[in-house]
Amino acid sequence: MKGIAAIGEVMIELAPLHPPTLRLGYAGDTYNTAIYLARHGVPVSYCTHLGQDRHSDAILAQLAHEQVNTQLISRHPIRLPGLYMINNLPDGEREFSYWRDQSAARLLFSEVQPPVGLFEHAMIYLSGITLAIISPEARAHLFEQLADYRARGGRVAFDSNYRPRLWPDQATAQNTTRQCLQLTDIALLTLDDEQLLWGEADEAISLARLRALGLTELVVKRGAKPALVSEQGGDWQPCPVVKVSNVIDTTAAGDSFNAGYLSARLMSANCATAVRTGALCAGAVIQHKGAIVDRDAYNTSHQDLSQQS
Ligand code: ADP
Repeated sequence: MKGIAAIGEVMIELAPLHPPTLRLGYAGDTYNTAIYLARHGVPVSYCTHLGQDRHSDAILAQLAHEQVNTQLISRHPIRLPGLYMINNLPDGEREFSYWRDQSAARLLFSEVQPPVGLFEHAMIYLSGITLAIISPEARAHLFEQLADYRARGGRVAFDSNYRPRLWPDQATAQNTTRQCLQLTDIALLTLDDEQLLWGEADEAISLARLRALGLTELVVKRGAKPALVSEQGGDWQPCPVVKVSNVIDTTAAGDSFNAGYLSARLMSANCATAVRTGALCAGAVIQHKGAIVDRDAYNTSHQDLSQQS
């Protein structure tokens, strides 16, 4: 078994450029991670459903350009990729509008047979967004297949990425996330998402609850603060992230962190080293606008940051 397969949804992104002009791009949490994994030399496949339209063609072309394998992608005869628009607000904050209810990716795992070759990868990476967009029946298929995959030696990495509006209610999100964590070898969670999902105002409560899960490997991302790692339910190990003085846009910070972290772990680095690798990757991304930073700009920022820190 070789490489990682990332599963999820990639959407058409419309971002403000010079109003009223919008910039067209393609992004999605697991898609972003797949691209940054490939940039770090990891053999990676992306698993999703696309349409037959020209945006789906462009997504496949971008993946090929980034050296992400596209053999796990199937194309629906009628459905299209989802779409979202970023709006800048007067106070500097951003809001997102989505058109994704009927996207092709919603049909992932709706058939009993998984995409051919998916479970031949050494690791599967998915997120709470992957789980939120598919039907309850599809989730049940996926969970059964993941259990079988793990029994055969496969490893699962999961980021809970809680987005309330994708779920029918909070309890469904909580139950599904809990179920997925039971099938997870490497959990890459964000403190903010955990607090939102579980309604916990106090960080200590979230951390105690998470540690008690006794996960094999659990990483909690906390923005500029040190990430925390717990292995086999052991004590939290604080792992500093690199300092970034010119943060421009934190879109895809967590996704790119995950790519760096997993790339290091696949090369057998220890967790603290993997946090540094993840933080360097995220640190380069947040110095630029957008989820997928132009490759040259990314490489330059990554190099500068690793020399500084
Ligand atoms: P998410 O993007 O999922 O909300 P975080 O905000 O915790 O997750 O960010 C993920 C990672 O990105 C952090 O662990 C850190 O390495 C990096 N990061 C995010 N914000 C900053 C920042 N202001 N300064 C330095 N690194 C940051």
